[in-house]
Amino acid sequence: MIVVLKPGLSKKDESAVLKEIRRLGYRPHVIRGVARTVIGAIGDERTHQSLEALGNWPQVEQVMPVQKRYKFVSREAHRADSTVPVREHLIGGKKLHVMAGPCSVEDERQLLTTAEAVRQAGATILRGGAFKPRTSPYEFQGLGEKGLKLLAKARRVTGLAIITELLAEAHVELVAEYTDIIQIGTRNAQNFQLLIAAAKTGKPILLKRGLAMKIEEWLLAGEYVLANENPHLMFCERGIRTFETYTRNTLDLAAIPIIKQESHLPIVIDPSQGAGRADLVIAMCKGAVAMGADALLIEVHPNPAEAWSDGVQQVSLDQFARLMQELRPFIAAAGRE
Ligand code: PEP
Ligand code: MN
Repeated sequence: MIVVLKPGLSKKDESAVLKEIRRLGYRPHVIRGVARTVIGAIGDERTHQSLEALGNWPQVEQVMPVQKRYKFVSREAHRADSTVPVREHLIGGKKLHVMAGPCSVEDERQLLTTAEAVRQAGATILRGGAFKPRTSPYEFQGLGEKGLKLLAKARRVTGLAIITELLAEAHVELVAEYTDIIQIGTRNAQNFQLLIAAAKTGKPILLKRGLAMKIEEWLLAGEYVLANENPHLMFCERGIRTFETYTRNTLDLAAIPIIKQESHLPIVIDPSQGAGRADLVIAMCKGAVAMGADALLIEVHPNPAEAWSDGVQQVSLDQFARLMQELRPFIAAAGRE
């Protein structure tokens, strides 16, 4: 930690701070500048009481960490890109993966029609919500276990892997029994107990960014997964809330190079929740792929106008097939397959 002292302190005030740093088990190293004196406090913060509270001392201007607060997710901990195995696939490798399917699983026909169409167009993973985090309690909440069973059936029929959202700790075993990837949604991105429970299943986890979450907080939420001995984590940017109203959320594409710099883990882009409009999905996918996204998560519905949730943002089967065609040159330009 770096402790910045207020200017013009008496010797007595300064030595009181030094004494406290030593008392807490750190070795102080004083650096005297022209306008400020700063103290480097040397020691391992994980095994000592934090120096943060010194920020409350009248002699102290600021206490700043030197090290990043996350460890296992960081690029420093692991220089090479990590890949996440999902059945026979590797997310984060040479191949760009597309996860596609409806916002919610509605019935067998809807799911199987979508699954077959997205498979033919080139998707490798089927998405579909069985437990839906709806803003209003009066909106469709998902089919629950029946939805999970339909996803498993779609996997059997098409060979696609599946991803579905885990909403609550009470459903961990149930969801893990069916799914290949556990999706942690935006609204649960900092539900740390849920993250720990999901991590303990050992299943690959896709962690969406919270609605108003800073990237550091997102990385720290991911740290909960790796710190609980599950290395199979993907980050998913799905838009953050801003003042803009032309889109449902503001898709932060800068998250792609930032996550790549800060972390070794794959980054997935969800343009559907990001835009909240089907007409923007293709353009956002092209941007995401060009910027180095490892996978896309796209909402696709056989009849978006009659979807039970998120109808405005889901693309039709035809639009999805066109999207996959139009993405080809962008995938090649990014050096992916
Ligand atoms: C979804 O994928 O349908 C969903 C609810 O996502 P988010 O958590 O990003 O809102
Ligand atoms: Mn949705």
